[in-house]
Amino acid sequence: MDKGKTTSKKRKESDSPTQSPKSKRKLPTRSLAWNVFTRLEDDDSRCSCNYCGKTYSCNPATGGTTNLNAHMKKCKAYLDHVESGSQNVILTVGGT
Ligand SMILES: [Zn+2]
Repeated sequence: MDKGKTTSKKRKESDSPTQSPKSKRKLPTRSLAWNVFTRLEDDDSRCSCNYCGKTYSCNPATGGTTNLNAHMKKCKAYLDHVESGSQNVILTVGGT
């Protein structure tokens, strides 16, 4: 009893090597400050610390994230968070 079902239409998709040259988009390295601060919705020239709630000016015209980085170094709530637990967080304050 041969079942005449030999219609195994297996389409051989030509597996052409889809090796497109990996062109990694260079995303602008966002400042670490943006892990800590959130821009205020009603005033995007200010942002608040996610950990202690303090607000700072983050207007690029007036120094940008400089004062944010400064705050990160002394924000008790943030430092506590960094020290307690997530040791994967690499603190690279400074640079620009
Ligand atoms: Zn803070």
